[in-house]
Amino acid sequence: MRYHVYVLLCFMFFGIASKSQNSTITKTKPAYWQQHVDYKMDIVFDVNNYQYKGKQELTYTNNSPDELTRVYYHLYFNAFQPGSEMDIRSQTTPFPDSRIGDRIGKLKPDEIGYIKVNSLKQNGIDVKYETVGTVLEVDLDKPIQPGESVVFNMVFEAQVPVQIRRSGRNNNEGVALSMAQWYPKLAEYDFEGWHADPYIEREFHGVWGNFDVKLTIDKDYIVGGTGYLQNPNAIGHGYETGPVNRPAGETLTWHFKAPNVHDFTWAADPDYRHDTLKVPGGPVLHFFYKSTMAKEKLENWKNLQPKAVELMQFFSNNIGPYPYDQYSVIQGGDGGMEYAMCTLILGEGTFEGLFGVTAHEMAHTWFQFLLATNELKHYWMDEGFTEYFGELAESHIFQTDFSQTSKGVYDLYRSLALSGKEQPQTTHADRFNLRQAYSISAYYKGYVFLAQLAYVIGQENQEKTIKKYFRDFAFTHPVPNDIIRTAEKVSGLELDWYLMDFTQTTNTIDYGVKAVEGRRITLERIGLMPMPIDLTVTYTDGTSEDFYIPLRIMRGAKPTSATQLEDWAWAYPTYTFETKKPVRSVEIDPKGLMADIDLRNNRS
Ligand SMILES: [Zn+2]
Repeated sequence: MRYHVYVLLCFMFFGIASKSQNSTITKTKPAYWQQHVDYKMDIVFDVNNYQYKGKQELTYTNNSPDELTRVYYHLYFNAFQPGSEMDIRSQTTPFPDSRIGDRIGKLKPDEIGYIKVNSLKQNGIDVKYETVGTVLEVDLDKPIQPGESVVFNMVFEAQVPVQIRRSGRNNNEGVALSMAQWYPKLAEYDFEGWHADPYIEREFHGVWGNFDVKLTIDKDYIVGGTGYLQNPNAIGHGYETGPVNRPAGETLTWHFKAPNVHDFTWAADPDYRHDTLKVPGGPVLHFFYKSTMAKEKLENWKNLQPKAVELMQFFSNNIGPYPYDQYSVIQGGDGGMEYAMCTLILGEGTFEGLFGVTAHEMAHTWFQFLLATNELKHYWMDEGFTEYFGELAESHIFQTDFSQTSKGVYDLYRSLALSGKEQPQTTHADRFNLRQAYSISAYYKGYVFLAQLAYVIGQENQEKTIKKYFRDFAFTHPVPNDIIRTAEKVSGLELDWYLMDFTQTTNTIDYGVKAVEGRRITLERIGLMPMPIDLTVTYTDGTSEDFYIPLRIMRGAKPTSATQLEDWAWAYPTYTFETKKPVRSVEIDPKGLMADIDLRNNRS
């Protein structure tokens, strides 16, 4: 009690003091900044033992306002060793990913993955470093000052693991090398500090920059991946632009450059077939798939190609133009995963499966690659928005009913919300109790966020929001506030409640029709999450009328042709209004765009 009095007095004193000085303190936060990397790598690969030696010169520019005394690198391949965090987490989680299970624990020394750092210099001077699981911790020789660039020279050696997840060798479809997250990769430092997350199960975050990669590998291997090949006529293999003139020897050195990316991925196989197809006015699409597959599988890959052109056009038109000159769809060894200017996907499924995974992974070029949210923190903006646009593109190309797809997705979200197993979308991707809760939250609740945004601000405003979000935030690391602020700017509405309740809590939406008496309709809010209400009233004379009840804290209304009523303040559990004619029935949200968890009370 005395403490409170003291605090109150302090307040009063400070208040008087600052008034008497009659001065104004204006504080500004630093504007947006992001770090920058320029990688030069020289890699010599031995296809007999799946080991490679690398030299990496990394020019790192500190655009932050902070002095840095340490840096961190990801060494992702170290996850594929018995006893790693990925191994133990997989063996101790209730429903592990069957692709991982206890497989890592059984890897023999010549089957594990590793990246060993042999030396590291900062501006020519050795620095102290320590490998801690999948992260290299580096104590700098000299702090890096704001605005300063330093050069790190690293020598490393590595071994490709037998394929467990995403990356690896000799997978079930027989692809020799799926090389994702294969090099020492600098961790990102941003306004939230370092993101030196260990590789436990989930995905990635990287620093924007440029890559210059020379890869020396057996001359029979065909390589696809990130970056433009600089020496196509010394390579051939479907890249040539004129007569092929290969140097003598058992190996070829492939020279790739990739500008403005935050990752570099490749895959290689001696049996790859390599096709290309140009998107009119857009990039050249490259396809790499095993020529040894059954005839009908090869046909699937041929049929995929014109559809991939349509996908590229759809995403470019509806989100923002694809900014590179090349995109590659590559048969890899594990599901599908998005990378810079390419994707690695399983290749032996049905045509529908092949098309579906290509649609999803290509959509990731926009959501996570160009709009580079941290996948470990904001997976719902990555997987959810991608799932939404992948399905939207698919329904556009095959003329199917998108609302039916959405209905299924909303139902999946409802099943999670009602299960008691939901964790808020602010949970780190690796720290979900249940994998399925992560998946539904990331893919389907993320999808619902975007689909439902069209309900909240109107379809046209939702579409404008996506395009503006791309224009304003491509090539950066957007965070959740960026998408909602974009929606606010486009719609003129206040929407912080939508981001907060839906993504930062597990509050649910439940509105119901409480009573209909003659011309009087009473609705009730049962769930904690606020929403505006669309409803359709059918009168006793058989006609119907659409109504719209704005939510008071939105401080406005979406554009609508419905009859607009007084707004509804969230704290009031019920809302009553009168119609002009006697009512037969009432239905809340007849289009099913609101993620109401109990639909039984939505009609009278
Ligand atoms: Zn995905």
